[in-house]
Amino acid sequence: MSNIYGWQEEVWRKLTGALGHALLLRGRKGLGKLAFARYLAKSRLCENRSVEGKACEVCASCHWFEQGNHPDFCLVEPEAATATSVSGEGAGEEGVETGDEAEVQSLPRAVNQLSGSGKSTKKPSRQISISQIRELGDFVNITSHQNGYKIILIHPAETMSTAAASALLKNLEEPPLQTLFILITHQAQYLLPTIRSRCRQIIMPAPDAASAALWLKQQGVKAPERCLASAGYAPLTALEFANEDYLVRHSAFIQQISTPSGFDVLARAEEMQKSDLVMVVSWLQKWCYDLMSFRMAQKVRYHPDMLAQIKPLASGLDPYSMATYLRALDKTQQLARHPLNPRLFLEELLFSYVTMLSEKSRNRSKAG
Ligand SMILES: [Zn+2]
Repeated sequence: MSNIYGWQEEVWRKLTGALGHALLLRGRKGLGKLAFARYLAKSRLCENRSVEGKACEVCASCHWFEQGNHPDFCLVEPEAATATSVSGEGAGEEGVETGDEAEVQSLPRAVNQLSGSGKSTKKPSRQISISQIRELGDFVNITSHQNGYKIILIHPAETMSTAAASALLKNLEEPPLQTLFILITHQAQYLLPTIRSRCRQIIMPAPDAASAALWLKQQGVKAPERCLASAGYAPLTALEFANEDYLVRHSAFIQQISTPSGFDVLARAEEMQKSDLVMVVSWLQKWCYDLMSFRMAQKVRYHPDMLAQIKPLASGLDPYSMATYLRALDKTQQLARHPLNPRLFLEELLFSYVTMLSEKSRNRSKAG
């Protein structure tokens, strides 16, 4: 990434002056926050910034950064993010509106990367541990290459364990000299309020739908509108969705759950048991969000091309049971990472959906 995304220019201009000691970049997944933060770090470490505050791309510092071994930059991520080789997680990781961001970025890993030291037999941790935050002390205290300025990027900040967050808070309360913390969060509500309040908070923008579609077209995406809607209008997530395999599987699933009368739960669960379950739950969340949204406001967000199917399904839904169901799906999403038995997990998930819809018709017949 040798620049920022077009929709980030305005926020960039706000950050050309002094940055203070801690920034918190907020926004949902898929907006390009990580790429922005890395470019900001690279530019601040550059020996020859432009008047717009952008990296020169030719100095030694810029080269080090591009090669992923800048001595004054440290990226802190959960071990699991490193294990997937790029810190962007799978397309299915993002939840409805609030999920963590699927950042597409191609920079090599930094050498100064504190991503935990899990044992090879264990699943890589999805949390940032207290030892990762403690190790920052060494990084801060080692003499830096350039004028003593160091940058620490924590991504995503809400994955810090409670102990890690408390340790970081001490750093933010008594900030080390010449050190900039950049925290990225997809779900700021899960951060300690005391951490939030000690950072300069930056709301990261999303492009409007037309510009996002245009950008996707420039990336060679053939059905940009559909990918965008399905990604909740987060352009980088939409780009991840823009592949034939994903679109076909997603379509098939939505077709099935949109016609629940002929829906064979056991067969579907069997067929989909090798799927990414976090992704499947997020599909169902978005679908149910649209059913609810249509029921309440005659609007849909994620499936504008499915109005003909959504309308009859949503028409008699009981908003209260639907809200309860959506909350239960949030909990299910957390379990989807580590199901004991994927097939049973799917059976339960799909049965609960069918039951929810049939309860609706029972309620209707009672009411009628
Ligand atoms: Zn430079």
